[in-house]
Amino acid sequence: MLVVQKYGGTSVGDLDRIANVANRVAKAREEGKDLVVVVSAMSGETNKLIDYAHHFSDNPSKKEMDMLLSSGERVTAALLAIALQAKGYDAVAMTGRQAGIVTDNTHTYARIEKIDPTAMQNAIKEGKIVIVAGFQGINKDGSVTTLGRGGSDLSAVALAGALHADQCEIYSDVDGIYTTDPRIEPKAKKLDTISYDEMLEMSSLGAKVLQNRSVELAKKLGVKLYAKSSFSDNEGTLITEESENMEEVLVSGVVLDKNQARVTLRGVADRPGIAAEIFSKLADENINVDMIIQNVGTDGLTNLGFTVPQSELENAKKVVNSFDHDIQGADYDENVCKVSVVGVGMKSHAGVAAKAFTVLADSNINIQMISTSEIKVSMIIDEKYGELAIRALHEAYELDK
Ligand code: ADP
Ligand code: ASP
Ligand code: MG
Repeated sequence: MLVVQKYGGTSVGDLDRIANVANRVAKAREEGKDLVVVVSAMSGETNKLIDYAHHFSDNPSKKEMDMLLSSGERVTAALLAIALQAKGYDAVAMTGRQAGIVTDNTHTYARIEKIDPTAMQNAIKEGKIVIVAGFQGINKDGSVTTLGRGGSDLSAVALAGALHADQCEIYSDVDGIYTTDPRIEPKAKKLDTISYDEMLEMSSLGAKVLQNRSVELAKKLGVKLYAKSSFSDNEGTLITEESENMEEVLVSGVVLDKNQARVTLRGVADRPGIAAEIFSKLADENINVDMIIQNVGTDGLTNLGFTVPQSELENAKKVVNSFDHDIQGADYDENVCKVSVVGVGMKSHAGVAAKAFTVLADSNINIQMISTSEIKVSMIIDEKYGELAIRALHEAYELDK
């Protein structure tokens, strides 16, 4: 049996924890498993490296950022291999390149284009435990690239796909996927299973327990994905195809995303093509626009609102300013958050959205924006009510039962 395991930043956060991971890997080895182990940088390390770069420049070259950031995962990969060797196990550490991961040229947010698993397969045949530095690959020019924040999850899923592994296990400090972030609502319940689509919504809507791209790829490649804890031997959560009994559950989880900022454009020239121009320019600048609302125009003018990640607000302002002849004014609000309700059961049940609105109204929370899909309802509200809203929704949909 071939298993890809991934240990996140908290799980390798200090030398004792790396020793703990070495023990867990050794145990899986003793059970007869072939293993490819993907590791993150020690927790806080990637942020520290980013701060170092900003000491010298507000706008450091993305190519050099990749060179810098990829080093964090290499440290852990090498240390884990050394720890395993010291215990008498044959282990080898590989960078993304050595593991055969080739990406496109989008530095700091590269996409994996292909994986040549030969080197890993040869090492496995020789009886070695393969340790791979997560979050990185190499582009066609030979430069190192990174896969976006949280990208070691993606490395693990992609390697599991390329190696046709029996399963991929993502280890963090929680023992699975919960109905909401257990740090916000201690009454949150662990789910035994969740569908790829629900998990993808939860990740995209802000639950950072799994990186959204990794869930998308797991679905595409049919990778059997588990979320587990590196600090316990509890069962974990299986992320898998949707099954019929999943639809009996109306709502699977609620999600809070604090990384939101709202942009409101007032007095926008109400003419064909204006939205296309504004949003094309935002897209050209790689700004991820999330929710959009436009009101019916009067007197040739309309209002247009949308949200972006807080980290992209400054760039969004620049784009908005370049439309000054088409827009009378703009307001920006960083003190907003997004609360979302997710569940495949919504497909076949009416009234889920209405209930969410009622719950927030009963808590006296004003909803600023709404967006829905077949399996989710998202609402933008004042940031200071985010956690309150999550707990109220969690209770209203009886997720603690
Ligand atoms: P790692 O550093 O191992 O990659 P992360 O910090 O990225 O781990 O993810 C684990 C964290 O995700 C947990 O500590 C938890 O607070 C958070 N989290 C958010 N939403 C959920 C959820 N629905 N279920 C479980 N954990 C969640
Ligand atoms: N170290 C990277 C980050 O902090 C990648 C990861 O941990 O998955 O985003
Ligand atoms: Mg993570």
